[in-house]
Amino acid sequence: MSYFPTIKELPPDPLFGLKARYNADPRTEKVDLGIGAYRDNSGKPWILPAVKQAEAKLIGSADYNHEYLSISGFEPFLKQAAKVILGDNSKALSENRVVSQQSLSGTGALHVAGVFLKEFYNGQKTIYLSKPTWANHKQIFENLGLEVANYPYWNNDTKSLDLKGFLDTIKSAPTGSIFLLHACAHNPTGLDPTQDEWKQLLHELDIKKHVVIFDSAYQGFASGNLEKDAFSIRYAIDQSIIKTPIVICQSFAKNCGMYGERVGAIHIIPGVEPNESLNKAIKSQLNKIIRSEISNPPAYGSKIVSTILNDPTLRKQWEDDLVTMSSRIIKMRYKLRDLLSGELQTPGNWDHITNQTGMFSFTGLTPDMVGRLEKVHAIYLVSSGRASVAGLNDNNVEKVAKAIDEVVR
Ligand code: PLP
Repeated sequence: MSYFPTIKELPPDPLFGLKARYNADPRTEKVDLGIGAYRDNSGKPWILPAVKQAEAKLIGSADYNHEYLSISGFEPFLKQAAKVILGDNSKALSENRVVSQQSLSGTGALHVAGVFLKEFYNGQKTIYLSKPTWANHKQIFENLGLEVANYPYWNNDTKSLDLKGFLDTIKSAPTGSIFLLHACAHNPTGLDPTQDEWKQLLHELDIKKHVVIFDSAYQGFASGNLEKDAFSIRYAIDQSIIKTPIVICQSFAKNCGMYGERVGAIHIIPGVEPNESLNKAIKSQLNKIIRSEISNPPAYGSKIVSTILNDPTLRKQWEDDLVTMSSRIIKMRYKLRDLLSGELQTPGNWDHITNQTGMFSFTGLTPDMVGRLEKVHAIYLVSSGRASVAGLNDNNVEKVAKAIDEVVR
């Protein structure tokens, strides 16, 4: 007799499966454009100088230890994390309208957001996701039994934002639905609304009283500037454009290069009026969720990030590191676009590569072309055609351009 009669083996996770194929490929000239992790110009993982210095400072300090954190997380980290995303002069912060909880990076924040909204939100619990979106969004919420729906985002013909489709869905969704927005550096398309487009979108979201979840996994990574990359969030909050609850899921995985340390936070702004008792209730419920799921958040990464954020010299170093990472990626975008559109005269228009921002480019390559890139050229990217531009460098960009040219013709 089987105790698990319905169980079936699932295919490997598309992204981690790709990584396994890449690792097993013996070809020396292989190129990994799959996983969204920053690589330096020699293709190596990069420990940010700010992180290195913070680690030395932390480990050398007299009170360094491995004790449990509180259930809410490391308070000096949480306080600064809220300021990073909302701004030093945030009205919501000075009015005590923000409830913060440390999470297992961005994924953990999204999960806690789902658990919290499922249990306590009394409106329409369908979560609208961009089409396409980060592959994990759907399963994070569906695993909790929440309904997900889509809003159009990427127009494949024009390789640009489907603003009309997006606005139409905001208007037609039942009042008080939940919209998940990528704060910047949209994954997988690399395409962000302009500031004017953000204003239109947020005003429509307000009219329909939709609850907004901002997924902020790439602040500082898109433009190199923390403030610029937080525009959508700060515009929605500073001027109380969105009056319904706002949830921010914040990750330090990419912008601190702390991928495996799981540093993140969820910030909930329940409304535009201060409400201390509501804040306390929310905080206690977030604590209960965390306590039952992970007991208390991991300490090491949050202490590193806190060390950076609470030391002006390290904070300045971090901001320089963000410029180093973002400008290298931008440089690679231009190099690839110029090779395709210039020297190689590859059929098609490749301007979208430089119009997009952040870690990824939605190249427009078909699954067949992507398959051939892997098989013939040892270049690995996901079948949707999304390339992690961070995987390009001066040594491989020409090879990649020539291979794209070959598979497109
Ligand atoms: N949200 C988006 C859009 C992402 O691309 C990612 C990571 O790739 C995450 C959230 C969560 O990342 P992490 O859990 O590593 O912070």
